[in-house]
Amino acid sequence: MPITIKDVKVITTQYNKQRLVIVKIITSENGLYGLGCATFTQRYQAVVAALKGHIIPFVLGRDVSRIEEMFNMLMVSGYWRNGPVLNNAISGIDQALWDIKGKLANMPVYDLLGGKSREAAHVYVHADGSEPQEVADNVKAFQEQGYRYIRVQMGGYGGKTNMAGFGIGNSNTVAEDRDVMILPDNAPSGAYFDPRAYMRNMLKMMEHVRSEVGTSVELLHDVHERLGTINAVQFAKDVEPFKLFFLEDILAPEDLEWFERIRQQTTTALAMGELFNNPREWQPLIANKLIDFIRMHVSQMGGITPARNVTLLANHYGIRTAWHGPADTSPIGHAANLHLDIWAPNFGVQEWCRFNDVAYEMFPGLPEVRNGYMYPNDKPGLGIDINEKLAAKYPCEDFVEEWTQTRLPDGSPSRP
Ligand SMILES: [Mg+2]
Repeated sequence: MPITIKDVKVITTQYNKQRLVIVKIITSENGLYGLGCATFTQRYQAVVAALKGHIIPFVLGRDVSRIEEMFNMLMVSGYWRNGPVLNNAISGIDQALWDIKGKLANMPVYDLLGGKSREAAHVYVHADGSEPQEVADNVKAFQEQGYRYIRVQMGGYGGKTNMAGFGIGNSNTVAEDRDVMILPDNAPSGAYFDPRAYMRNMLKMMEHVRSEVGTSVELLHDVHERLGTINAVQFAKDVEPFKLFFLEDILAPEDLEWFERIRQQTTTALAMGELFNNPREWQPLIANKLIDFIRMHVSQMGGITPARNVTLLANHYGIRTAWHGPADTSPIGHAANLHLDIWAPNFGVQEWCRFNDVAYEMFPGLPEVRNGYMYPNDKPGLGIDINEKLAAKYPCEDFVEEWTQTRLPDGSPSRP
């Protein structure tokens, strides 16, 4: 008799700003369950509805061992497919099934994938600041904690208040020698972003940080898809002297054909793809060697199964992994990332958001980072659990995200 899916619980929690969605598959085998990340924080209610209304009724009673079949069937069984809502719901099921398979085999998921390629995964952390000196000081503070890969931003993604010449509402407070952003009368409140000023200010910041910290630390930067196409080409060229480990999301998914132009113009290493929805979206960028790192948000892609497949495709082309790892990837999702990192022959670097104590208490087994390395444990499955009673004490709040409502100086909407 196969072990089957007896019940599926959808757990939502919010111990921080991010609303997390976790799937718990309960099996017909007494005490055997699995956990998966289904987090799409900005539209979490839609994922919960997709799971409860459509995905859970589909999977109930099915054989837990048939991950491949389940993933491929779930991707097409609604006929209309793709998108962050459905893919995250499918990821919750997919990751939980890998967790269950590992527990049944008494192996960590990295062993099921093919075994360890490395002992631990290099992580990168985020240094920010309102001034170049503050960014440099924060880089040095991370270096003292043992981090060797550090993302440098100034003013978040260049669109926050009182930073780098960018204002919220009419508060045009800026530091000396910065671009001043003049907003129209009656400008709506919110975050504002000036692409040309952003480019100038980031170049000043990177030049200063390099002069302060030297060349031995690996620096990264995330454009967050905010630049238009020709500005993106120019910026990728302009940052070349700073020898970034990678420049992330220089283009939006709508502008992918411009990668070829960027590639012809600069050796800046490029990372792309956290907004992609379907595994096949990577194919032209990989096959034409237009990027250096796949920045997949694993739950957005549908889980471990598609991430494994794209990893192996990229490996043949010398392209490495750099899974998206912000705070709106749940701790379960971070554990899934780590198992892929430990296995992947072409692992590059792992983004790390430094979870707080509540997260470690709520998710026993949450990966630990020491001296810039993230370490797996040797427990079977994903090696992480959830304290559901504690999770219930932190219910999700309903609010409208503000940071994704960014405007250009004249008040028109900008890509977040
Ligand atoms: Mg990013």
